[in-house]
Amino acid sequence: CPRVVIAGRPNVGKSTLFNRLIGKRKAITHHVAGVTRDAVEERFSLKDKLPVTLVDTGGIMAEPGGVFDPLVKEKAIKEAEKADVILLLLDVVDFTAEDEELINLFRPFEDRVILVVNKVDSPQREDIAWNFMSLGFSSVCFVSAEHRLGIEELEDRICKLLPDSTVDTAAEEEPDIKISILGKPNTGKSTLLNTLLGEYRAIVSDVPGTTRDLLEGEFSYKGKRFFVVDTAGIRRKSKVHDDIEFFSVRRSLDTVAKSEVVILMVDAKEGLSEQDKKIAAVARKHGRGMVLAVNKWDLMEDIPNQFNAVKDRIRFLFPHISYVPIVKLSAKEGEGINNLLNKVIAVREQLHRKLDTGPLNRKLREWVERTPPPGKKALRYKVRYITQTSTMPVKFVLFVNRVKGFPSSYVSYIENNIRKEFGLLSIPIDIELRQ
Ligand code: GDP
Repeated sequence: CPRVVIAGRPNVGKSTLFNRLIGKRKAITHHVAGVTRDAVEERFSLKDKLPVTLVDTGGIMAEPGGVFDPLVKEKAIKEAEKADVILLLLDVVDFTAEDEELINLFRPFEDRVILVVNKVDSPQREDIAWNFMSLGFSSVCFVSAEHRLGIEELEDRICKLLPDSTVDTAAEEEPDIKISILGKPNTGKSTLLNTLLGEYRAIVSDVPGTTRDLLEGEFSYKGKRFFVVDTAGIRRKSKVHDDIEFFSVRRSLDTVAKSEVVILMVDAKEGLSEQDKKIAAVARKHGRGMVLAVNKWDLMEDIPNQFNAVKDRIRFLFPHISYVPIVKLSAKEGEGINNLLNKVIAVREQLHRKLDTGPLNRKLREWVERTPPPGKKALRYKVRYITQTSTMPVKFVLFVNRVKGFPSSYVSYIENNIRKEFGLLSIPIDIELRQ
């Protein structure tokens, strides 16, 4: 059973975190430094599926003399050697010489350390917490053990550091991929949905506004379960005369938010409309992925390079969604569906990708060296470091010396490099600047 060890000087919140992770009260928490006497350990299931032993080293660290005591150091190193993951806990507003001592002590075990900055429970404290990035650990996590903030993220990070064998058993069940199919009436959404679900309960007809029943359902492909979430654009519209209103951005909003990847259907002969553009903007805003399906391809004349021409035109007219994969499709003939689903899988994988801070910053340094930010001498803009703060939306925070006037072209330069280097080619990416 892998060992997860919580280390930190007295009073940083070790027992509270311990309790938070095991989900019940066992260690005694108390505001007097050093109240937990021995190392407490308990087995529990991380994320309800990974058996781990959680160790609170409170007792060891609380010896008189604290972490400067050679005996305490020795014990701490022993624990570190046995550990698969070390949670090095720090107090966001109280960084002491003891903390530094511990950091130096655990530095040799860096690849299994997660630096956990505790008591981050306000935006002001979060601002302070970013300073801990400069300690150079590749895994850093902000939490408030007391207020249950950031605990899930911490659990995810622990999972990532656990030996493969244990993670494998946890990953045996593939997560669902939530998709939605949006687009103008009559572009073939129901046809695609029916093909995907392998059922033909809905009535498909040439008359826009035909009554349909099937709005959602499940299917599987390549061992993955797909779940089509309520697809607003397919909803019945027989009695509604305003089809346009029907395919409104407002109605699609919910659907986009509920799905991970939106399949946007367009008629090959019509191309993209203003409303498609808005849907795309909504998906982008929510950090959701999108695949553009150019449907009814079977009706297109067989001209060489036809598809490239169609793609070029879309790319030209919609430059802000240049990352969206475009596929040709014939929902009716069932052609191009595998390709479409492969793209959906790739997009979803990228949406959930979490880049480690270490490699990301090593690359950042390279990019900055190759092309430094503009500005003259003392006024030169400087880039400090970067970290990914969330998945879906995939978001980064880039620390710079001055946010005001920081050239957006340079942010694009960084974004393009991230995309290329880490293969995040098909999803929206946000980069926020902080000083
Ligand atoms: P929705 O309003 O977007 O759900 O569109 P439907 O699925 O009802 O399709 C509208 C019409 O287009 C129907 O007559 C379909 O048979 C037809 N259609 C859908 N996909 C294709 C396709 O790939 N090729 C051709 N030729 N017709 C299609």
